[in-house]
Amino acid sequence: MAKKDYYNILGVDKSCDEKSLKTAFRKLAKQYHPDHNSGNPEAEAQFKEVSEAYERLKNPESRAAYDRYGHAAFDGSAGRGQGGAGFDGNFSSSFSDIFNDFFGDFGSTSRSNASANRGSDLRYNLEISLEEAFNGKSDTINVPMNTTCSTCSGSGGEKGEAPIICPSCQGSGKTLASQGFFTIERTCSSCHGNGKIVVNPCKSCAGQGRQKKPKKLNIDIPAGVEDGNRIRLSGQGEAGIRGGGPGDLYIFISIKPHIFFERDGSDLFCNVPVSMATAALGGQINIPTVDGGKTRVVIPEGSQNNKQFRLRSKGMPILRQKRQGDLYLKITVETPINLSKKQKELLKEFEEMSNDKTNPESHSFFKKIRDLWQ
Ligand SMILES: [Zn+2]
Ligand SMILES: [Zn+2]
Repeated sequence: MAKKDYYNILGVDKSCDEKSLKTAFRKLAKQYHPDHNSGNPEAEAQFKEVSEAYERLKNPESRAAYDRYGHAAFDGSAGRGQGGAGFDGNFSSSFSDIFNDFFGDFGSTSRSNASANRGSDLRYNLEISLEEAFNGKSDTINVPMNTTCSTCSGSGGEKGEAPIICPSCQGSGKTLASQGFFTIERTCSSCHGNGKIVVNPCKSCAGQGRQKKPKKLNIDIPAGVEDGNRIRLSGQGEAGIRGGGPGDLYIFISIKPHIFFERDGSDLFCNVPVSMATAALGGQINIPTVDGGKTRVVIPEGSQNNKQFRLRSKGMPILRQKRQGDLYLKITVETPINLSKKQKELLKEFEEMSNDKTNPESHSFFKKIRDLWQ
């Protein structure tokens, strides 16, 4: 049986514009919709016919092909043989970029039904302090995203009406189209590859099954997280289209710089300036620790500049372990400035009493230079 003319099916003129095409389709689709004609196979057939006709004509390229070749434009017979063997299958995939440039979504065949519906993965940036990274943190965050529409519960249909199998592609999400002598598999433009369509779209979400609404989430940041770590919250990303699976949410952690501590993995580093006298005589200093407490460090007599002290297990916790890194203190011996007359006199007196025992390094260095010059 010869196929009916698409324009006749929709009851429009061959020269009609896109808008009247859409109006005609909407009217007929409502009339023949399976929800209003349950148990009526004739209406179902007509609904399929109407949908197919509209799908072919709403796209200008496909409409032009139909005007030129009639139904042969879509069954793969138009221009067959002109292109030669090998063009049909592989050509479209290996040259898909070129096809995308010329024909929009022609040639893009890789989207599966599931991925077309699935919601996007989302990234949320969270900045925490070093102390929070040390202790771990529970927080409530508001993530702006598309969430499941509450009016239609995600179905996308009015009053929660379920989507129906797309009549244009019979649910496969793909159609075959001919452009001249190429036969190209393309994403079905009626259902955008989903395999299902919504006839009466939900008004709250325009048939998408989801709406923009921030999602409130309670999150637990484990102790020991590092700058650049990401936490994956499976299924907490964007809601899918018309009930498709949700994406994931990734929380990207960054850690604010600390005034005292630098971090390398689980170890912490801290520079401590000490006075010349403390370094020479020895003494005790109090150092803050990242847990909010403090610890006393003994500076031994005669400590040199850049001397490093290791305080075991005073560093950061190691993620998912019961161990902690170390804290390294490095002292910087501070040369005194803005000295009073008295201080200068004392230091001069002190210097006169210095010898190769009190300052072995500088004495030996200058002795070597003197030997060299003589
Ligand atoms: Zn909705
Ligand atoms: Zn389809």
